[in-house]
Amino acid sequence: MVKAERVCKSFGALRVLKGITLEIERGQVLCLVGPSGSGKSTFLRCINHLEVVNAGRLYVDGELVGYREKNGKLYEMPAKAAAKQRRDIGMVFQHFNLFPHRTALENIIEAPTQVKGTKKVDAVKRAKDLLDQVGLAEKANAYPAQLSGGQQQRVAIARALAMDPKLMLFDEPTSALDPELVGEVLGVMRQLAKDGMTMVVVTHEMGFAREVADQLVFMDEGVVVESGNPRELLANPQQDRTKLFLSKLL
Ligand code: ADP
Ligand code: MG
Repeated sequence: MVKAERVCKSFGALRVLKGITLEIERGQVLCLVGPSGSGKSTFLRCINHLEVVNAGRLYVDGELVGYREKNGKLYEMPAKAAAKQRRDIGMVFQHFNLFPHRTALENIIEAPTQVKGTKKVDAVKRAKDLLDQVGLAEKANAYPAQLSGGQQQRVAIARALAMDPKLMLFDEPTSALDPELVGEVLGVMRQLAKDGMTMVVVTHEMGFAREVADQLVFMDEGVVVESGNPRELLANPQQDRTKLFLSKLL
């Protein structure tokens, strides 16, 4: 579903991604961990067209992201084609990013009705199912300010799912939450993984990574330091940088 080959990204002279290579099979969960500033968000943003890679190749579901290839040369993709690719990818941010003046239900139907042209009655029906799925059937008419952080994040997940994405990206989805609210969001993500969604999750929740992820990738300073089965990697990290990072988390 995702294939990165030596992906590089710089901002001016600052080299942030220095050749990321990894692969995620359909239906797999990959947890991406590493110190602040190591390039985790930038990598997710490249997958989701919020940044354009400078070198290397990034594929989602077999399609090159952001570029078209012709006679071995790459051309930046027209905005419309990029928007089309992006529709199939859901993203959940640390700070929920719900529209504050719209109810939970209105937040969820926005993209399907505006971007996909789904009929409003159909979008509403689907939104109600999704609210039920994330345990918030009662909150359809609540505004974000009337919801806890954990509830807002679950609405944000439902909103991303409303576009029927084939891939979901999570960028520290529980980092802004009070500790007692983390579990409800991770629970929704765990169920999503069980249902077969392909997911890339940037997180510091090692319990989640151990239980749910098929692959754990440790990144530092724009490179993959090591990766593998989460249980094995957490129990027996090989690299000093990984050991140091993990020891600080515990
Ligand atoms: P992480 O998510 O692992 O904490 P980021 O991907 O957010 O790391 O950032 C990696 C580095 O890239 C940081 O040094 C950050 O300041 C820099 N960076 C990220 N986005 C931009 C940008 N749009 N312009 C300039 N520098 C950026
Ligand atoms: Mg980040």
